[in-house]
Amino acid sequence: MDTYDFIVVGGGIAGASAGFALAEHGAVAVLEREEQVGYHATGRSAALFTAANSALTVRGLTLASKDFLVNPPAGFSGTPLLQPRGALFIGRPDQQGLLDELIARTSALAHAFHRIDTAQAKAMVPVLREEYVAGAVYEPHSMGIEVHALHQGFLRGIKRHGGAVFTGAEVRLLKRESRRWLARTATRSFAAPVVINAGGAWADRIAAIAELRPVNLQPMRRTVVLFDPPPTADPRGWPAVLDIGEQFYFKPESGKILASPADETPMEPCDAYADELDIALAIDRINAAADLPVRHITKRWAGLRTFAPDRLPVVGYDPEVEGFFWFAGQGGFGIHTSAAMGRLCASLVLGRGMPSGLAALGLSEAQLSPARFKSRPQ
Ligand SMILES: Cc1cc2nc3c(=O)[nH]c(=O)nc-3n(C[C@H](O)[C@H](O)[C@H](O)COP(=O)(O)OP(=O)(O)OC[C@H]3O[C@@H](n4cnc5c(N)ncnc54)[C@H](O)[C@@H]3O)c2cc1C
Repeated sequence: MDTYDFIVVGGGIAGASAGFALAEHGAVAVLEREEQVGYHATGRSAALFTAANSALTVRGLTLASKDFLVNPPAGFSGTPLLQPRGALFIGRPDQQGLLDELIARTSALAHAFHRIDTAQAKAMVPVLREEYVAGAVYEPHSMGIEVHALHQGFLRGIKRHGGAVFTGAEVRLLKRESRRWLARTATRSFAAPVVINAGGAWADRIAAIAELRPVNLQPMRRTVVLFDPPPTADPRGWPAVLDIGEQFYFKPESGKILASPADETPMEPCDAYADELDIALAIDRINAAADLPVRHITKRWAGLRTFAPDRLPVVGYDPEVEGFFWFAGQGGFGIHTSAAMGRLCASLVLGRGMPSGLAALGLSEAQLSPARFKSRPQ
C-alpha cells in the first residue's frame, strides 16, 4: 500500500493543476487511467484564452488565471504559455443585440472588448463576407494557449515536490476505511485521507465507485477539423473568429485553419470521435460567413466538454462523506481557468476557504460546492 496525503483521480488539466497547487502542502499521487496524460478533453481543446464567457464566475476564474499564464513560476515552462491572437466575435444583422450584450457584460473588466464595424472586421480577416457580418466585437487580449506546455508544467511541479504521476492506473475501487480513502487499480493500492475527483467526463462514475450520489454532470461532444487555407489567404495574423450565437468558430493553427461547428451533443463518457454530420455543419456554417473553401481536411477530432446542470464548476467536499473532494464540470473553460482553479481547489481542500483574490471577485464556496446538487434527501 502506497500512502500519500492527497490522491488525485484523473491526470487531465484539472488533476494536474490541483496536484500542482497541493504538492507543496503534502505528498500527491495523480492516478490516470490512460497510458498518456492529456488523452481526453485536455489534449483535444481549441486552446483559446477568452474572457467572453456568459457566467461572471467563469470570467472571474479566467482573469484570475492570467497572471500565472503570463508569468509562470521560474522553471515552469521553457516556452511562453500564451501567444498573442485576439478574438473577433461576429454577428449577422439579426445578432447585433448579442454583440451589445457581450459589451455590456464585459464593460467593467480591465480586459478590453471593443465594438467594431464590418469594415474593421474585414480589415482583420479579409475572407469575411460583407453581407453576413453586420458588426463585431474585438477582444484584443484573447490569446492562444500552449496547452501541452501548461499541462506538463503542472505535472513537473508535482514531481519536483516529491509527488508522483501514475499512468495506466485506472481507479477501480474507492473505499473509506479507518479515516482514509483506499484507491485500488489493477496492480496497486493507494491510501490518503483526501481523494480529489478530477475525472472530467467520468467524475460522476468515479463518485459511483465510491458509492456516492452523482452531481449529474453532462459530457457534450465538440468537433474540430483542421484544413488548409485557400492559397490566396494568409491567416497567420488573423484573430480567432467566433460566431456570437455560438454556432461556429475558426482560427489559424500552425499554417492551417482550425474550425468547429461549436456542437454540444450530449454523450455518455467515452473516447469521443468526430461525426461526419458535425464536420459538414462546420463547413456549411463557416462558408456562410467567410469565403473559406474547404478542399482537404487534414485532421479531425472530437472531445467531451463536461458541464454541471448550472454550467458552473463543481469544487468542494462531498457533503455526505469525509475527505471526498469534487473538482469537475470544467466545461469549455477548463484550460484557461486552470491556474486559478488549481489554487482554489488546494485552498478548499486544505480548509482555508475561498482565496482572497477570488472572494473579491464575488465567488463563494456555496456557489461552487457539490452540495448545491445534493440538497434532496437520499
Ligand atoms: C473541442 C474542445 C475545445 C475546447 N476548447 C477549449 C478552449 O479553447 N479553452 C479552454 O479553456 N477549454 C477548452 N475546452 C475544454 C477543456 O478541454 C476542458 O475543460 C478540460 O480539458 C477538462 O479537463 P479535465 O482534466 O477535467 O478532463 P480530462 O482532460 O478529460 O481529464 C480527465 C481524466 O480522468 C481520467 N479518468 C477517468 N476515470 C478514471 C479512473 N477511474 N481512474 C483514473 N483516471 C480516470 C481520464 O482518463 C482523463 O484523462 C475544449 C474542449 C474540447 C473538447
